[in-house]
Amino acid sequence: MLKSTILKSTYEEIYRRWDEHTPVPFDCGKICGAACCVTDGGQTMGIYLLPGEEKVHDKKDPWLSWSMDEAQDYDFPEAWRGKVPFVACQGPAHCKREKRPIQCRTFPLRPYLTREDELIMIYDEEALPYACPLIDNEVALDEGFIRACYENWRILISDPLIRDIVKMDSEGLAEVTMVPLPVQAERREDADRF
Ligand code: SF4
Ligand code: SF4
Repeated sequence: MLKSTILKSTYEEIYRRWDEHTPVPFDCGKICGAACCVTDGGQTMGIYLLPGEEKVHDKKDPWLSWSMDEAQDYDFPEAWRGKVPFVACQGPAHCKREKRPIQCRTFPLRPYLTREDELIMIYDEEALPYACPLIDNEVALDEGFIRACYENWRILISDPLIRDIVKMDSEGLAEVTMVPLPVQAERREDADRF
């Protein structure tokens, strides 16, 4: 298993922060048939966990099925040496939402490291096999959700292995659409005064 500097309690806090916010204040799965949770062939959706994310999961819980891939055999950063957990869920009807992995929680955004190593959030537009109406229609996302993404990914990239994969994935993207960190309400009021 890959070594992680993120503690179990930190992962729990990260999950909790995302639990408080969804991308939009309605069930967007209803407008697209939960396109990001199902595959064309109706097969189960597979997701890689981040290094250490397995700490907050019970492998005996049957809602996810687990397999382990050798990092060296797949397109992971050089520093990733060891087994990477790959989990398959059984689709939205069986989703244990409070345990859904970070990949599910971040979408439709993803982290991006600029050339100056600044973390920003961008739309996850990379060659998706489905259309996400939130991305396609540039629907305004919940500010709390955007903020949670920034806060959580700032913590996550303090782990060198997670930073490596975010950097690697960022370098592979030609064009990105940034979703800026919302200005806090009190700061907005200050700005309005001038
Ligand atoms: S995030 Fe996009 S693809 Fe996923 S359920 Fe919502 S609208 Fe559909
Ligand atoms: S774990 Fe839940 S949110 Fe993630 S892909 Fe499966 S059904 Fe969707």
